[in-house]
Amino acid sequence: MSEVLKLERIEKIYNRGEPGEVSVLKGADIAIQPGEVVALVAPSGAGKSTLLHIAGLLDTPTSGRVWIGGEDLTDLGDKRRTQTRRSKVGFIYQFHHLLPEFTALENIVLPQLANGAGQAAAKDRAMMLLDTVGVAHRSDHRPAELSGGEQQRVAFCRALANAPALLLADEPTGNLDPETSDRVFGALMTLVRETGLSALIATHNLDLAARMDRILALDSGVITPTK
Ligand code: ADP
Repeated sequence: MSEVLKLERIEKIYNRGEPGEVSVLKGADIAIQPGEVVALVAPSGAGKSTLLHIAGLLDTPTSGRVWIGGEDLTDLGDKRRTQTRRSKVGFIYQFHHLLPEFTALENIVLPQLANGAGQAAAKDRAMMLLDTVGVAHRSDHRPAELSGGEQQRVAFCRALANAPALLLADEPTGNLDPETSDRVFGALMTLVRETGLSALIATHNLDLAARMDRILALDSGVITPTK
């Protein structure tokens, strides 16, 4: 079976050829198998956001290749990249970025409608996802009426709304206090395991990293396995 995500010899240079040139990634390799949950641990400024953006087709590498689901996506045009990102990749950020004027449920239904799902099916899936992370009873609340941990649980569900093959998360619980972070991370792992997703999750928290299948460290522009 092919890797859900494969990054091969990824290099990223910002301001190439200019005096302030910054070489962030220097030949980073990652391969994630179906169902694997992989931690990405890196000191601040090491390039983990850059790497996640390249993996999620939000940015292009200076050189190297990106495969998702066995398909080489490196040279796709903008339109195909956007289509592929929408259908295959879910993103979670440190801040939830939910739409404030819509309820928790609507925040998970809307991306499905935009992707061609019917109302009833979209609502059923949204409720199933909310139930998995323990916030179904908050489905009619707007983000401002939810706690930080609840907001982030809803954001997890939104990332999975269109059943992506790959989840990319950048410090998904970094904005929460340690106790809440621990519980909310548990909800994320339940969601990932129950949906059979593959995930690459960047975190500074080594306790959380240890709960994943493998740990990769990003340092000096390359990836080294640590577990
Ligand atoms: P991390 O997520 O690990 O903190 P980033 O990927 O955000 O690191 O950034 C890695 C390095 O690349 C930093 O030195 C940052 O200043 C630099 N960088 C990020 N984005 C840009 C950009 N658009 N232009 C120039 N330098 C950038």
